[in-house]
Parts: sequence; structure tokens; C-alpha cells
Amino acid sequence: MNVLVINCGSSSLKYQLIDMNNENVLAKGLAERIGIEGARVKHEALGMDKVVIEKPMTDHKDALKIVLDALVDTKHGAIKDLKEINAVGHRVVHGGEKFSGSVVIDDDVIKALEECIELAPLHNPPNLIGIRACQELMPGVPMVGVFDTAFHQTMPKSSYIYPLPYELYEKYGIRKYGFHGTSHRFVSARAAEILGKDLKDLKIVTCHLGNGASLAAVKNGESVDTSMGFTPLEGLAMGTRCGDIDPAIVTFIMEKEGLDIDGINNLLNKKSGVLGISGVSSDFRDIEIAASEGNERAQLALDKFNARVKKYIAAYAAVMGGVDAVVFTAGLGENSASNREAICSGLEFMGIEIDKEKNNVRGKDAIVSTDNSKVKVLVVPTNEELMIAKDTVELL
Ligand code: AMP
Repeated sequence: MNVLVINCGSSSLKYQLIDMNNENVLAKGLAERIGIEGARVKHEALGMDKVVIEKPMTDHKDALKIVLDALVDTKHGAIKDLKEINAVGHRVVHGGEKFSGSVVIDDDVIKALEECIELAPLHNPPNLIGIRACQELMPGVPMVGVFDTAFHQTMPKSSYIYPLPYELYEKYGIRKYGFHGTSHRFVSARAAEILGKDLKDLKIVTCHLGNGASLAAVKNGESVDTSMGFTPLEGLAMGTRCGDIDPAIVTFIMEKEGLDIDGINNLLNKKSGVLGISGVSSDFRDIEIAASEGNERAQLALDKFNARVKKYIAAYAAVMGGVDAVVFTAGLGENSASNREAICSGLEFMGIEIDKEKNNVRGKDAIVSTDNSKVKVLVVPTNEELMIAKDTVELL
């Protein structure tokens, strides 16, 4: 069974065609700059050279048309006929309280997703556009929606409720939802496999550290707490997002700097985090280089980032009444040995002991703690696309 996995952003469409008989990625790529000048699709089929197709695309439907043409292209395609695509799995950012798992997409689901737009105004509209484009261009092909929020729907109410007037939760659904759920679910399950243990017997802290970053406390296979909240702004310091701050700062800055709602949203989401502290970049590679050259603010940004991850690891151990494994994933978590070491150092009192030599890995499954470490520390590359494809097969 071939599953096409689609992940639509506001001006992009990422895709993978996966043969689920052997989990081989037959083709993958990215359509970017949709709706603006310089639109292009970067496409790569299994065993072939990457091609860049430069063509104007007014919307996601145009982009999908080009992607589908590329998939059946005689020179750089992966299949002969679109009929070889048996199903489509869509990444959907926000499923609100309605979806605690993946679902087959029908008219009712689409309506429910439209109702979630208010909760994710930047993310859900492009996801819906992608779903509609597939319906038009691939009529009759079954589709599944896999939500970033769904995995965290198991959180107890004491984790997800905010200490605000309760009526605001009832009226507007203001509560913690959490994100990166597909990644936290994938890496926690994979970590249990690597450790040769049943996921149901484990207490795991998963650290998804990319440009957006979040931690989850996964107890017996279920998310019981996570660092992102009502939106993906809460929690860790991220590439450009501030994470946890005193909420009083928001109105203080608005008054002092004369910012309106868009202005403050832009400052907290796009100009803060490690970019804000360092003034160098939102990319950890640039910050690490600047820090190694003696840039104090770059070092401060790294220290702040690492200190907060450390704080959440210890907090989630407390939430779960212990911790068996800490798992690092995503761009930074998978690649940066120095960050993993800095985060874990000082946590020896909890039984976390990193092995410097074993920790010298990037981008592959590995146990990086010492043999004596009570808590196992793992690197597990995330694979949200495979998880989406697996859910699609299971549901269909
Ligand atoms: P993601 O959002 O998961 O794609 O992660 C992207 C982030 O991972 C980038 O902004 C980089 O800061 C970080 N990253 C990727 N590779 C490395 C690396 N080798 N060393 C340090 N940071 C990295």
C-alpha cells in the first residue's frame, strides 16, 4: 500500500510517498514559495538525483498538481500511475478537544476542523486547503488526518487547565493542548523498542528540540504533561519564540513600545527566543559558532535554552513520580552532542549520566548514557511522516 503524506504550511507543501509494505520512501519533496514569486518544487525519488521544478503556483492546488505530475514523471517519477497512490495522510496541527486520535477525513471531520481554525489561525487553514486540493485532484482516494494535538488529549485536567477564570475554558476552550504530538508519540514508542521494554511500563521524558521545541512527560505510553500550551508559544525558549514569561510583561511592553496585538504577537513569536537573546540568529548552528568565538549573548542564549530544558526534565520526573528514559529528537536534539551534554550535566542526582563518547552521535538511534546510568538517555530521530503513514494504514 502506497501512502502519500502531506504537510501543508502557509506557503509550502511537504510530501513523502511511502510504500508501507516495506516502509521505503519512494519519493519526497517540498513545494515552497506557493503564491509568491520564485515558487519551486524540490523533488527526489528513491535512488535518483534531486530535481528542482521552477513553475508559478498560485495556490496549494497548483502545487499539488505539480507534485503529482512529478510523482508519475517518466524521468524522475516514482510510480507509473496516480492509481498507485492508495491513500493520503495529512498532518493537521490542531484538532482541539474533538480529536484524541487520527481519523478518516469526511465532511463532518472537515467541518470540525473549520471550527478549530480559531485555535490555530496560522496552521489549520493551510492544512484544510491541502485536504481540499487532494479531494479535487484525487477524488475517491481515502484520506486520514493526523493531529499534532491528539497525543496530548490524555493529559489529566490538572495538567491542561490554566489558573484563569474557569468560564474562559468553557466559553473559548482556553486550555493547554500541546503540539508535536506525532513526534512525541513516535520517539517514545521507538525508545521503548530500543530499550527492549514495554512502553506501558515506562516513564519517559521526550525532548523535541528543533526550531520549535517542546517536552512531553509520557507515562505508560500516554502524554500526561507537555510544555507547549494553548498555542505553540508556551514552554521552552525556542528559535524565535519566547516560551514561558511573566504574562505581565506582555501588557508592559505593549504600553512602553506602543505595540498593538499584531505587534506584540510578532515580537513574542518571531523576535524572541534564542534569536532575541543572542541577536545573532534563530539557528542553533550559527549561535554555537558565535558562542565559540566569544560572543557572550550567544552563549547566554544557549545557557538559557539548555537551563529551561533541564528544568522541564526534572519537573516532568516529578510529575510522573520518576523517570526511566530521556529521549532527544528533532534538529538540535538529534544533532547537537554539546547541547545534550549541557542539558544533562547536573542531573546526575536523578540518576542521569551521559557517556561523552557514546553521546558523540548525530541523526541515528543510540543510547548515549553510561552503562551505570539509572535513567537511560537516548537519541531517536523523529519520523512524523512514517507515523502519519502508519496511522493511515491502520485506519483504512
Ligand atoms: P527542526 O525544526 O527539527 O528542523 O530543527 C532545526 C534546528 O535544528 C535548526 O534551527 C538548527 O538550529 C538545529 N540543528 C540542526 N542541525 C544541527 C547541528 N548539527 N548542530 C546544532 N544544531 C542543529
